[in-house]
Amino acid sequence: MIEYGHFIDGKRVAGTSGRKQDVMQPMDGSVRGTVALASPAELRAAVENAKAAQPKWAATNPQRRVRVLMKFLELVQRDYDELADILAREHGKTIADARGDIQRGLEVVEVCIGAPHMMKGEFTDGAGPGIDVYSMRQPLGVVAGITPFNFPAMIPLWKIAPAIACGNAFILKPSERDPGVPIRIAELFIEAGLPAGILNVVNGDKEVVDAILDDPDIKAIGFVGSTPIAHYIYSRGTASGKRVQCFGGAKNHMIIMPDADMDQTVDALIGAGYGSAGERCMAISVAVPVGNDTANRLMEKLVPRVESLKVGPSTDSSADFGPLVTAQALERVKGYVDIGVKEGAKLVVDGRGFKMQGYENGYYMGGCLFDNVTADMRIYKEEIFGPVLSVVRAPRYEDAIKLANDHEMGNGVAIFTRDGDAARDFASRVQVGMVGVNVPIPVPIAYYTFGGWKASSFGDLNQHGPDAFRFYTKTKTVTSRWPSGIKDGAEFVIPTMN
Ligand code: NAD
Repeated sequence: MIEYGHFIDGKRVAGTSGRKQDVMQPMDGSVRGTVALASPAELRAAVENAKAAQPKWAATNPQRRVRVLMKFLELVQRDYDELADILAREHGKTIADARGDIQRGLEVVEVCIGAPHMMKGEFTDGAGPGIDVYSMRQPLGVVAGITPFNFPAMIPLWKIAPAIACGNAFILKPSERDPGVPIRIAELFIEAGLPAGILNVVNGDKEVVDAILDDPDIKAIGFVGSTPIAHYIYSRGTASGKRVQCFGGAKNHMIIMPDADMDQTVDALIGAGYGSAGERCMAISVAVPVGNDTANRLMEKLVPRVESLKVGPSTDSSADFGPLVTAQALERVKGYVDIGVKEGAKLVVDGRGFKMQGYENGYYMGGCLFDNVTADMRIYKEEIFGPVLSVVRAPRYEDAIKLANDHEMGNGVAIFTRDGDAARDFASRVQVGMVGVNVPIPVPIAYYTFGGWKASSFGDLNQHGPDAFRFYTKTKTVTSRWPSGIKDGAEFVIPTMN
C-alpha cells in the first residue's frame, strides 16, 4: 500500500489533516494506496515555503533556470518506463497511451527552454527628447495549478514548466485520483537542480482548492477540469483578485463530408472516439456525416470496427483502451447510455455488458455507438467522457457547421474532406478553439497555444505556446528621461559602462 502525502520544501511529507482517500487501480479495482487530503493549514505552510524560496529563484539568471528543465528532460528519459507504469496503473489508460501523456508534457518543457527569449521586453530609443521606454516581464510570485485526472503528466507539466521557467514558485494540486506521477515529477525536478520550495505538490479535494482560491499570496491559478468546476474556480479566483485561466469540458464534433476518404475517416474516428476510453478532453464524441448516403457508408464501416475494439487491462500492449478511471465514472457513463436509449437514439453497438475475464472488479465497458442522435438529447448536449460515440446525421454542410457552432462547448472540432474550399470555409467560420482538417484530435503542438472557446474555457489566455509566458509574467514598463548635460567634447577612447 502506497501512502501519498504531499511534496513540500523539496521532499515528500506525510499529511497531517487526518483526512485521506483511497487511490484505486482501475484495471482490477484494487486499492493501490491512499492519498492525503490537505487542510487549509497545510496549504498555508506550502505557500509560505514557496514564498520564501521564490525571490532567489526569480533572481537566478533565466538561462540557469532553464538548464534545470533541460536536466529534467534527461531524467524523465531515464525513468520513462516507471512513470508510464505508475500512470497507467492509477489512471487506467494503456502503457502506450501513458507514454504519450508524458511525451506531450515534455514537448512543452522543451519549448519552455526558450523562456529567456520569450521573456524579453521591448525597447524604444528616443520616444521623446532624452526619453527611452522599455518593458520587462517579471514573474508573478507564487502561482498554483489545479489539474484533472485524465492527463496526470501532461497537464501538470503544461503549467509547471512555463511557471518555473519564468521565475515563479508553483503549487500543484493534482487530481486526487492519480497523484503518483505528479509527485514523481516534483522529485525529478529537485534531482534536476530545482531549489526546494519552487515546486510544491499539495494533494487534496475541494477543501484545499477553496484555500488556494482565497490565499492572498497565490497570484495566479491555472485550472483544467470539468466546466462547472472551471466556472466556479474562475469566478471565485478572479473575485479575490487573482489572474485565472480555466479550461473546461468538451463535446467535440467530427464533420464528415460526402467526399471524405471513408477508410481514413473511420481509422481516425475510432482512435479519437475510443482511445483512452474516451476520457480525453479532445476525444471525438459526436460524428456528423453530411447527407444520408455519407452516413450509411460511415456506419457500414464503423460498426464492425466498434464491435471489434479490444478492451484490456492497462498493462496489455495489444489493448485499444483500458478501464474507466473509477467505479463511479463507469456507472455514470453506463447511465448516459441508458438515457440515450430512453431518449430514442438507436444504440447500434452496446458495450455496457462487457466483462474483462480475470479482471472482474476492473472498471471496464466496451465501446458504444449511437445512431440517429438529435440535438435536443442529453447524450448530445452533455459531456459523457467515456467510450460512447454519437452519430448525428446532418442533411447539409450548413446544418453540420451549425451544430458545432450552436453547441455550448467549443473545445475541438474536425472536418474530414478532400475539398480545400470546404475546409477553408469551415476553419474560418466554426466557433471552436481548436480545429482539425483531416486531423481528428487537433491538439496544437507545444509552440502554439491550446484552448477552447465558449463553455470550454474561462479567461483570456491559452495554455502553452506564447500565451503561457504572458500568463506567468507581469509586464512592467519603464519610461526614463535623461536630460542632456554638457558634453565633454570628442572622446577617442572606446566607450565603456564604467
Ligand atoms: P474535475 O472538474 O472533477 O476535477 C478537476 C480538478 O478540480 C481536480 O483537481 C479536483 O480535485 C478539483 N475539484 C473537483 N471538484 C471540485 C469542487 N467541487 N471544488 C473544487 N475543486 C474541485 O475534472 P476531472 O474529472 O478530474 O477531469 C475530467 C474533466 O476535465 C472533463 O470534463 C474534461 O473535458 C476536462 N478536461 C479539459 C481539458 C481542457 O484542456 N479543456 C483537458 C483535460 C480535461
